[in-house]
Parts: sequence; C-alpha cells; structure tokens
Amino acid sequence: MERADVAIIGGGLIGCAAAWRLAQRGARVVLLEAGEHNAGASGQNAGSLHFQLERRFLEQGEALAEQAARIATLNVLAVADWRAIECELGADLHVSMAGGLMVAETREEVALLEAKAAREAAAGLAVRLIDGDAARALAPYLAKSVIAACHLTDEGHADPRALTPALAAAARAAGAAIREGCRVEAIKTPAPGRFVLRTAAGGVTAAQLLIAAGAWSASVAAMANIHLPMVPVALQMNATERIAPAIPHLIQHVGRRLSLKQAHAGNVLIGGGWPARMAVRSDGGFDLARRPALSETSLAGNLRAAIDVVPMLARLNLIRTWTGTTAITADQLPIVGPVPRLPGLWVAGGGSAFTLGLTFARLIANAMGGERVRELDLFGPARFDHLNSFMGAA
Ligand SMILES: Cc1cc2nc3c(=O)[nH]c(=O)nc-3n(C[C@H](O)[C@H](O)[C@H](O)COP(=O)(O)OP(=O)(O)OC[C@H]3O[C@@H](n4cnc5c(N)ncnc54)[C@H](O)[C@@H]3O)c2cc1C
Repeated sequence: MERADVAIIGGGLIGCAAAWRLAQRGARVVLLEAGEHNAGASGQNAGSLHFQLERRFLEQGEALAEQAARIATLNVLAVADWRAIECELGADLHVSMAGGLMVAETREEVALLEAKAAREAAAGLAVRLIDGDAARALAPYLAKSVIAACHLTDEGHADPRALTPALAAAARAAGAAIREGCRVEAIKTPAPGRFVLRTAAGGVTAAQLLIAAGAWSASVAAMANIHLPMVPVALQMNATERIAPAIPHLIQHVGRRLSLKQAHAGNVLIGGGWPARMAVRSDGGFDLARRPALSETSLAGNLRAAIDVVPMLARLNLIRTWTGTTAITADQLPIVGPVPRLPGLWVAGGGSAFTLGLTFARLIANAMGGERVRELDLFGPARFDHLNSFMGAA
C-alpha cells in the first residue's frame, strides 16, 4: 500500500495540473490514471480558449444566464494563467491568444450579445461590441451575414495534445508519482481524513483525495458513497485540410452552435457543441468505455454553420471527424472544491475545462494546502449537499 499526502484520480488536464501544483507546494502526490494520461476529453477537445460567456449559458433564459455569468470571474483568472503557462512549463503548447469574435446574424442575436457584454463588463472582462463592418475590418474572412460581434482580445486556442503531457512531465519533475494503467476500483474511508484506494495492482492510502475523473467523476464519487451531479455528454469535432495562415481569431456564434479556429499546423478545427451519441450498456446507463458514435446530422449542421459564417471554408476538404466525452453539471457551472460530507475529499471538473482547467487546478491546490480561496466559494460541491443528505461515510 503506497502512502501519499494527496491521491488524485484521473490523469487529464485537471489531475495532472493539480498534481504539479500540489507537488510544487511540497505534498507527496500519487495520481492514478486508468489508461494513459490525456486519453480523455483533455486530449480530444477543440483547444478553444473562450473567455466570453458561452452560448450555452445564454440560451436557457435570463435567470440561468444571470447565474451562469458567475463563471466570468474565473475566466478573468484563466486569461492570466494561459498567458503565463508556456513560460512556467518551459514548453511550446502552441498557445495563440490573438483575440476572439462571437458573431451575430440576426437582431435577436445582437440583443443577446448586448446583454452578454453587460454581464461580462460587470465581471471585469473587456469585451467590445462592434458592428458587422468593424468585425470584417478585423476578420475579412467573415460573411456579410454577420451584423455584429463581441470582440475580446485575449481569446484564442492552444494544443490539447501538448498541454497535459507537459503538465504530467512537470508534475513528475516536481516529485509527483503518476501511475498509468491504474484504474481505481474501490474507495474506502476507514476514518475521517483517511482514504484507501484499491487498484488491481495494489492501492494507495492518503489523507486527501481529489476526484478529477472528467466524465467518470460521478461514478468515481459513487465509490465514496457520494452523489455528484456531473453528467457525461458526447461531442463531435471536425478538422479540414491544412491551409496557409488565414484565420488568426477564435470565432464563435452567439445564436448557433459554432466555434472555429485555425490550429498551428494549418488545419481549421470546427466544432461548437454539436452532439455525438453515447453508447448504452445492456443493463442500462451510458457506456463510457465505448467511444460515442458520430452523428451525421451534427456533422451537416456544424459544417453549414461554419460555411455560413466563414464562406471560404466551403472550398476546403474535411479530413477528420471525431467524438469525445466530457462532463457538464446540473447547473452548468463547474464543481470545484471540498465535499462537505467527507473531510479531505475534493472534486474538480465540469464545463469548459480546457479553458479553465489550469485555473481550477491552481485554486484547488491552494485550497487543499490550507489557504482560504474565495474565488471557489460559488463553485464548490456544497451547493449540491442536499443530494448527499443520506450519503457519505456510513
Ligand atoms: C469534443 C470536445 C471538445 C471540447 N472542446 C473544448 C474547448 O474547445 N474548450 C474547452 O475549454 N473545453 C472543451 N472541452 C471540454 C474539455 O475537454 C474538458 O472539460 C476537460 O478536458 C476535462 O479535463 P479533465 O481532466 O476533467 O477530464 P479528462 O481529460 O476526461 O480526464 C479524466 C481522466 O480520468 C480517468 N479515469 C476515469 N475513471 C478513472 C478511474 N476509476 N481510475 C483512474 N482514472 C480514471 C480517465 O481515464 C481520464 O483520463 C471539449 C470536450 C470535448 C469532448
């Protein structure tokens, strides 16, 4: 039985970044990853660094938009984390922060942009609402149908295949143990502040446990007899052939599912939250061990939206479409913080954690080290504690 101060379940972006930050603080860290690090959503995503409020926060009515706007305070922190990360890790992560445009094509969508910009300004995000001609002056490749856009100079993209491996290497260099091929099969809590994790190869005992298992987090939390309202969702992405540099910005749409950018290698990556179809187990429930099936409807809808906004894309060949599984939460906000029922148990995940994962990891490592981290107050699992009234150590 290996001993650690902190055990982490999940070797995605969040788990590896937290392992690095905790080891830097002097903690003995053991991270257990079922497969290889970066095999989950962290290695499959679109690489967008979107600091403007996402469309999904705006489409469910005023009350939810108001609540979800709380995320903007974390987005402000994430801008600084992304500006510093290549230097801190000493690695080329193909970070490009040349600005982002969230576009509108109808009057109703312009009204959404206006409300969004007001919320963002209140949170300290310097978003600028501009008309279609001003948007085309910045981004001449945009279609005439674009009548307005919100411009944020910090937005951009980075390479999902580079970030987590660099974080894992930094964590190891700082003294953390990262054990791959180690699926956690059971969690016991024999005493408050003591966790015993079983894997096929043995186990780990630790005073603190961080669940950073992405789409699997709810089933991992169940091993500790805790409900976690984090649900898996399957998404679809597309890549075109490589072209010469043509699209320096991150482009998103306020009223349609669309995000696109040109990656460092020249391919245009097109996504924006189009669903794929998760497999279902014969005994019911979603089967996360199997890759989600591609949806042709999503493929056609996504490419239609992309070509409507950036017409030159119609001339490019599509070379790859893939699916991946990520986690969203019951109220769309991430879940990052301590679990009230089980002292020493922490959770970090949910939402757009390529953009925000570095920030979650930095903040939670500070909190696990005993610091008071006010930025996490609104995002902790405590807001769902009513679900755990009959759960916890038994
Ligand atoms: C197609 C797609 C596009 C996306 N685009 C963007 C984007 O552009 N911008 C953005 O901000 N976000 C995006 N996301 C979301 C983002 O990728 C995720 O929020 C983020 O990667 C989550 O990181 P994570 O570390 O929480 O989880 P993951 O990277 O999924 O890692 C979880 C790890 O836990 C491991 N694990 C699970 N169960 C166990 C167990 N029992 N024992 C040990 N290990 C276990 C898994 O093997 C996995 O490696 C996208 C997601 C997808 C799928």
